[in-house]
Amino acid sequence: MVSCPFFHYLLFYLSFLEKTMKIRISKQAKSYYISSAHHHVTNWPWAYMLEILAGEWIDVETNYLFGSQFNTAGMPVDQVEMLLKRMPSYRSPEDLQKVQESLLLGARIMIESVDGIQGDERIGMGRCGWCGKNTAAAESVCQSCGKSEHINSFEPFLAYQRELYVKEPV
Ligand SMILES: [Zn+2]
Repeated sequence: MVSCPFFHYLLFYLSFLEKTMKIRISKQAKSYYISSAHHHVTNWPWAYMLEILAGEWIDVETNYLFGSQFNTAGMPVDQVEMLLKRMPSYRSPEDLQKVQESLLLGARIMIESVDGIQGDERIGMGRCGWCGKNTAAAESVCQSCGKSEHINSFEPFLAYQRELYVKEPV
C-alpha cells in the first residue's frame, strides 16, 4: 500500500474528475411501463424490476450510447442483494430470478422511465449508424470505423432531456 500523501491527494482529486454517467429511475416507471405495454404482453418481472429501482441512481454503460434509451451497467452482487430485499415475499422465485439476472447483467432502460440524468456523456457526441459506436458529432468521419455520413448527433434528444439534469453529487 502506498502511503505517500501526494498519492492520496491525487486519488482524491481524480475521484472528482472521473465522469460516471448515471440515471435515476422514476417512481412512475413501473406504472408507465404497464400502461404503455397494454397493446402487447406485459413482462411482469420487468415491471417488478422497475418497481424496486424507483428513485435509485444507476450507472450507465457508456460504450454504446443512445438518444432515448440507456444500457445500464451490471450491478455488483451485494447491491443486487440489497435491492432484491424490496421485492414482496409473495412474488414467485422465477420472477425474483429474472429480476436478479437483469440487475446483474444490466438492462435497457427507456427515457420514459428516467427522471434524472447526471454526467451525460452524450453532449457533443453522436452515434455512428454504420458501426454503432459513439463518436464526436462535429466530425464528418466516425472515430471508430472511419466511415462518413452515418453520424447521428444526440443533440435533438438532449434538447428535451436537459430538464432532467441533476448537478449535485448523488
Ligand atoms: Zn462507425
